[in-house]
Amino acid sequence: MKKVAIERSDGSARVFKPLAGDLETDGLAINYFERAPGEHIGDCYHRHLEQEEVFYVLSGTATFETEDGDVEVGTGELIRFAPGEWQQGRNGGDDRLVVLALGAPRDDEPMDLRRTCPSCEERTPAVPEEGNGEVVFHCEVCGAETGRYAW
Ligand SMILES: [Zn+2]
Repeated sequence: MKKVAIERSDGSARVFKPLAGDLETDGLAINYFERAPGEHIGDCYHRHLEQEEVFYVLSGTATFETEDGDVEVGTGELIRFAPGEWQQGRNGGDDRLVVLALGAPRDDEPMDLRRTCPSCEERTPAVPEEGNGEVVFHCEVCGAETGRYAW
């Protein structure tokens, strides 16, 4: 048995707490997010090829860009994405967003990442490079940098 407490922050910084390690889950990814209005939950429009993903909105409003357009998920609501379904969530409300993401199996690979490339002027495959406390994305087509985020 493993028990973990999540302390909700009162600041405005991005909060990301992966909990699968602390809870030693075998088959389930558990990630806790806090986001300011307008901030994305994950950095890319993406799909997992084998993992299904459920988002539980604990507070605020999440707006998910999907293949069928934007879908709003309010406080107390859940949304599930099957393997292969494209999505990217963001804080689409005026208040702080607190959301718990559950994924099974725990390993989110393989996955496809897309980001809008300023050079190609379209959404292209994004290649992440991690290091020095940040992740940098480059366009797979032309090599341009398409994003840079601190952990
Ligand atoms: Zn490009």
